[in-house]
Parts: sequence; structure tokens; C-alpha cells
Amino acid sequence: MAGKVWLVGAGPGDLGLFTIKGLEVLQKAEVVVYDALIGDAVLTLIPDQVEKINVGKRAGNHRMTQEQINLTLLEQAQAGKRVVRLKGGDPFLFGRGGEELELLVENDIPYEIVPGVTSAFAVPAYNGIPVTHRDFTSSVHIITGHRRSSGNTHSISRAEASRSINTAGGAGSLSDSDGLGIDYEALVRTKGTLIFLMGLSTLPVIMRGLLDAGISPDTPAAVLERGTTAGQRRVLATVSTLEEETDRARIKAPAIIVVGEVCRLAESFAWAEKRPLAGRKILLTRPKELISEMAGRLRRMGAEVLEMPAIETVPIQPNPALEDCFQKYPEGTAYSQKTAGRIDWMVFTSPTGVRIFMDWFLPDHDIRALAGIRIAVIGEGSAKKLRQYGIRCDFVPTVYDGETLGRELAQKIRQERENSNNIPAPVRVLIPRAAIGSRELVEELEKAGDIEILDIPTYTTEYVTEGIVDARQQIENGEIHYAVFTSASTVRGFSAVMEGADMSRIKAICIGRQTRTAAEAQGMQTRMAEKATLDALLDAVVQCAAEDRNT
Ligand code: SAH
Repeated sequence: MAGKVWLVGAGPGDLGLFTIKGLEVLQKAEVVVYDALIGDAVLTLIPDQVEKINVGKRAGNHRMTQEQINLTLLEQAQAGKRVVRLKGGDPFLFGRGGEELELLVENDIPYEIVPGVTSAFAVPAYNGIPVTHRDFTSSVHIITGHRRSSGNTHSISRAEASRSINTAGGAGSLSDSDGLGIDYEALVRTKGTLIFLMGLSTLPVIMRGLLDAGISPDTPAAVLERGTTAGQRRVLATVSTLEEETDRARIKAPAIIVVGEVCRLAESFAWAEKRPLAGRKILLTRPKELISEMAGRLRRMGAEVLEMPAIETVPIQPNPALEDCFQKYPEGTAYSQKTAGRIDWMVFTSPTGVRIFMDWFLPDHDIRALAGIRIAVIGEGSAKKLRQYGIRCDFVPTVYDGETLGRELAQKIRQERENSNNIPAPVRVLIPRAAIGSRELVEELEKAGDIEILDIPTYTTEYVTEGIVDARQQIENGEIHYAVFTSASTVRGFSAVMEGADMSRIKAICIGRQTRTAAEAQGMQTRMAEKATLDALLDAVVQCAAEDRNT
């Protein structure tokens, strides 16, 4: 049975500009064939088990030809797969979407098109430039600045572009003398907004063409680099000065060129850079299922977020040690009842720990078996998770870390013992948690004396080394500004994956002291949240961004 191909526009970079339909299709894909310009955030949404084919490796020399891409789509569909062909912006705007469909049509392969938000409109919008405005212009034209020669496309260097101007000399530029195939006179006559894609390397040629066709040299013009991402920058100038200003700012691709009176509005309409986390790219490495809330909040404040599925939690199943606890102590009998073989306290040190315990417990037990057990948690996140199961916790430390939890819980147990002689001995504490949990918790708890600690691993933490996005490269390039960490084990896991990368390039924003110590040990710059809560962590990110903006 033949599969199907979806030609999907990924938008210009900002995850929020990826369409709902695109996301639905992506999550059902079996194969994703993607280009170089797809935003990281969209790429990280491709489910793990999906086969990913990168056809746009820019730096490598192994870039697939268009014919190879067309053939790949056909072969995958003929193998019965659901194939998503993911393209930057909109698939039909300079995306060669049409060419990719031809072979599919010939072979009767079913397909659908999912349009995308094009950079041609979104990038100006994120720079405060409305592409039309009644006071200035009544049309907008989108033009490719890419040179096309005998069916093969290739870009030319800026040097080549300048040479071609020189050789054209003052001869005046009739439509195709520069090889771009642009009818500059027709464009200038429209008095419309002109938007050039793929035009950075040919910018001098294009400006010369417009000038020769009679455009006023003072016409406002802009170059907009990496729009909608943390790397967004713009150069505002005029047709006659744009080349020089763009060089000065060292603008790099991808960028679009906008020519027209509407560029004047950019300064007064600019908005994107005013968001508190604008221009910041932030890496998150929480276990996958916990990522979204933090990422969403950071994005809403203007950050570009790279969610790295660095860590996966794998439940220990079956778990005889845990099984033993509940067999030996079949009913969680109330503390006051002094029954031998009970559990007095259960301690959870993370929301993941809570979830994994419940996933293990609930299928074979009755929730009431926990009724008499008092429950301590490390902090708000775990408490919130427990409430989802209808459980309120009995103890939260003043500072949300393992050491404080151990010390304060030990204190509480000691006090209770002093105030009452009904307290059983030993006090039995079950800690179902990660296999690499910190030792401080147990060491501090033991100081309570006459205490039996059942420190039982319920999951292991595994590091996913192969990400679709090359985070290491981005760190080395200084493109990642902060990494947000919510546990010391995450810092260690992340560092293991990034082994050899220059960690001093990132600022680790840490939820607490142990996390910070771990980050410092890896050579990262650090900052610690004032409290171990997501809110405080977010505040710390915003403060860093404000300080970095002022330096
Ligand atoms: N189909 C895409 C365009 C593909 S051509 C779309 O609809 O957006 C590639 C060109 O798009 C780049 O050379 C650049 O001119 C432009 N482009 C894509 N993403 C961009 C971005 N985030 N910022 C600036 N220009 C971008």
C-alpha cells in the first residue's frame, strides 16, 4: 500500500509560528525529510522514533540534490510510510515544493500541503515593519535574489557579486544583465514594497539594479537577519547605503531585504526586542515529560528555547526491592499505632520520583495502603505532583534541597520522639527515588538516630547523546546564552553528553545550591534562583537577561 506525503511549512523559526495542523501531521509522521532552515524548536518536536532525513546539511558537502530529494520522497511513500517533507516558512514560496510534487503526481502518490507562515511576512512583522500600509504603498512583491543558471541553482559570493557590478560598469542594467532575471524597472514602477529572499549575497547587484531602474537612492531599505529567533537583527538604511551598513553589521544568512517606505515604521513599531527575554537562547534539559511548562513560560517572555531531550528516565521494572517494602509492610499503618513492619515516612525528591512511584504502585495496590504513611517532599514541584494523586504532603523543608530536607526531617523526628514516648523505633523512612540520588539526604537523616532508611532506586536516568539539533556546536558558537537546570543530576548528565565542549561559554541558571555546585564543577558560570521554585528560577533568568542587556 502506498504511503502519503505531507508537504509542511515549518514557519520562520519561532515555534509559535508553526501551525497546529503542521504539528498534528508531524506527530503522526514515520519519516521526516527536512531542510537546513527549520527552527530548532520545530525539529525537537519530531518524535524520537521517527526516521529523520536531513537533506539540507549546509556545511557538509553531502547536500542532496533536488532530484535525490524527490526520489527519497517517492521511495519512502512507496514503502508505505507517512512522510512529512518539512520546509522552512511556506513550502510553496521559493521552497521548490512544486518540483517535489511532480514525481509524486506521476506515481499516483497521495499528498497534502500544509502551508506555513512565510519569512517574507513574519520577519518584517517581528521587526515592526508592516509590509503594506495605506499611507505608503498598496502592493507587496516577493522576489528571489538567487541566481539561477541552466537549471542548477547556486549562490554566488559577495566578491563575485561586486565583480559583476564592476564589469557591468556604468552601462546601465537592463533586466537580465546581472543574471538574476529581475525586471527592476517593472518593480520600481509598482511603487510597492519589495521583499527579496535569498538576496544577501547578491545585495549589491540588486541595489544597483533598482538604482539603475530609477528608484530614489533615499528610499528606505532594511536587511532583516534570522527573524523571529533569538538571533534576530536588523539594519535600517536606504537603497544607496544598505550594502555598506549591512557589511558593517556583518549580517549573515538567512536574511531578507525589504525595500520601501514602510521600512520607516520599523523604529516606532518595533516590539519583539522589547520582550524581557528577547535575543536570549536558552537550553533546557529537564526530562522530556517535564519540559513544557518552563519552555512555554520562557517563550512567552520572548526567549528562543532549545529543549534538549538530554535525559530520559527509565523506570526500574520489576522492582523487587520496592516490592519487598510493600510486602513486608502490607498496610501503611498509622504512625501512632506502633505496629511493627510499617513505613512511617515516605520521602519524594522530585516530581518524576512521584510519578514513577505511582506508575509502579497504582496498578497493583490500593491507594489507601498509603493512608497511614506520612509524606515528605523536597519542594513545591513534588507536592504539586502528589496533589494530582489526591495526596497532600505532611512535610516540606524551608529550603528545597536534599541536605535541608534530610536535616529538617531528622530534627522533626527527634522532636517528636522527645515529646512523646509513643514513637516507634526505629522510625522507618522509605525513599523511592533516582538511582543516582544525592547522598546528603540520607546522611542528614541518619543523624536523627534510631532510624531505618530504605533508599530504593525506582528509576535510572539515561542520557540521550544523539540529538537532532547540534547543541554542542551552538554552545561552542556562543549561540546558547543560558542553560536552566533543576537538579544536580541533570547538570552531570548534560555535561556527560557535551563532554569536551567549552562549558564556560554558558551561564547555568540553577534551582538550588547543589545544582549550582554541580554546574560550577563543570566550569560553567552560574546563577542561583532565590528559592527553589519555577517562579524564582524564571525570575533569575529574567534578571540575567536584564543584566546582560546592560553590559
Ligand atoms: N519558503 C521559505 C523561503 C525559502 S528561501 C519561506 O516561506 O520563508 C530561503 C530564504 O528565506 C532565505 O535565504 C532568507 O532570505 C529567507 N528566510 C527564511 N527564514 C528566515 C529568517 N528566519 N529570517 C530571515 N530570512 C529568512
